[in-house]
Parts: sequence; structure tokens; C-alpha cells
Amino acid sequence: MVRIHWMFYRGVKMKKIESFTINHLNLYPGLYVSRRDEKQGTIVTTFDLRMATPNKEPVLDVPAIHTIEHLGATFLRNSNQSKEIIYFGPMGCRTGFYLVMFGLLESTDIYELIISLCDYIINFEGEIPGATPIECGNYSEQNLDMAKYYINKYKKQLVENKRFVYLE
Ligand SMILES: [Zn+2]
Repeated sequence: MVRIHWMFYRGVKMKKIESFTINHLNLYPGLYVSRRDEKQGTIVTTFDLRMATPNKEPVLDVPAIHTIEHLGATFLRNSNQSKEIIYFGPMGCRTGFYLVMFGLLESTDIYELIISLCDYIINFEGEIPGATPIECGNYSEQNLDMAKYYINKYKKQLVENKRFVYLE
């Protein structure tokens, strides 16, 4: 059981956010539903694309994360599910990415999309989209070779282990 901590900000009790309540000691690479939110009938699903085992293996390096972000966002916004994509970006702890999408979705609904995203990055050659000083805030910080290394490893984990549900 994960302990709930309470914090105060200007006298107001703040709840620990959901992503801090999952047990990171029992979390392995996979494709998880992090949370779902609803407002005025619109449901949004946030996926946890966990690529490195938290606190047990090295985190992803920053330039490779940047490359995965540029290529991943480009792929998703050109995919057949592009209309559902809200946001794709890295976790601060550098063990994976969040993907935010419209709809009441399960991991299995986007499994093929994520496998295709992996293949896109693994096979990518040439100029990284958006990696110019006019388009990006730190355009030269990229590492395509390491991005391919991490994504190869992640795809293997997805195919072999199909971890879709957080463990207790
Ligand atoms: Zn950038």
C-alpha cells in the first residue's frame, strides 16, 4: 500500500497527484494508463510509456529524449489517430514519456500505434524534424543513435512482456 502524504500551500491542503501514488518500486517498462480525466463530457486518457525501470537502471539520456520527443510527436501527429493526440512529452525523471489523448482509451487501443511509433524511430534516417534554431529551443541537442537504442529496447519489452496494468 502506498502511503498518501499531504502538503499545504497557503493554508490549503494539496492532494498528492495520482502519478506519485503508483509504486515505482514495482514498475517495469510497459504501456500503462496513468490517469483519465473528464470535463464537460470530454474524456482524456494519459498514458505512461515507461521505458526504463525506475531506480534500477540508468535513465534515458537527455539528447536521446529530445530526439524521441521530436520524432514521436511528428509520427503521432501524422498518424491515423492524429485527431486524438493532445500531447507527447518526456517525464522529468527521464524513465519514459507521457502521451495524452482524447477518449476513454485502454493500452490495447494504442498498442499498434506505439509499435508503429517505435518502428518509425528505429528506421528513421536523415534530418530530425524541427531540429533547427527557428523551430526548437535547443536544436543541436539530439542523439538519434541513442534514441534508436532506447526505442529498440522499449519495443522488445512491449512485444515480449505486454505490461499494460500497474502492479500494486
Ligand atoms: Zn526541440
